[in-house]
Amino acid sequence: MERVLVSACLLGRPVRYDGGSKPRADRILLRWRAEGRLVSCCPEVEGGLPVPRPPAEIAPAKRLKVCAIDGKDVTDPFVRGAEAALATARRHDIKMAVLKDDSPSCGSTRIYDGTFTGRSVAGSGVTTRLLQRHGIRVFSEHALDEAAAYLTALEDPDHHDR
Ligand code: SF4
Repeated sequence: MERVLVSACLLGRPVRYDGGSKPRADRILLRWRAEGRLVSCCPEVEGGLPVPRPPAEIAPAKRLKVCAIDGKDVTDPFVRGAEAALATARRHDIKMAVLKDDSPSCGSTRIYDGTFTGRSVAGSGVTTRLLQRHGIRVFSEHALDEAAAYLTALEDPDHHDR
């Protein structure tokens, strides 16, 4: 059975910077949970950051640097968290992930623009980029139908030929 890496905050774990979560009671996630497919991870916590923590964004024009709102460079824990997520994925032979969009770690279509003004731009987070570089397909929580179709194709490559 293929497993799916999922952002812990989407599963209701209180790991966000503000101590909250972003639970997503979607039928697809609920089914995958019942099937025992979900592998939860929070890269920022696994990278050593506390809960709560100052919000952080990827600095504009310096796509590899992550800064907290207080100006502190938090790139290292973000990179460690991405590596921890990759290690978890490898341990479970995971080929796909559903990660929370807009996050400087987990975003896959949009991230905040680094100005801490609530504006987002097209882009992806540190963990998403590392997973993608290692061949893991990342979907946002807004693309669960697409993710489900991808999973079906992974488990039954002949599905579309029938
Ligand atoms: S790092 Fe990812 S899993 Fe952790 S709180 Fe942020 S979006 Fe959620």
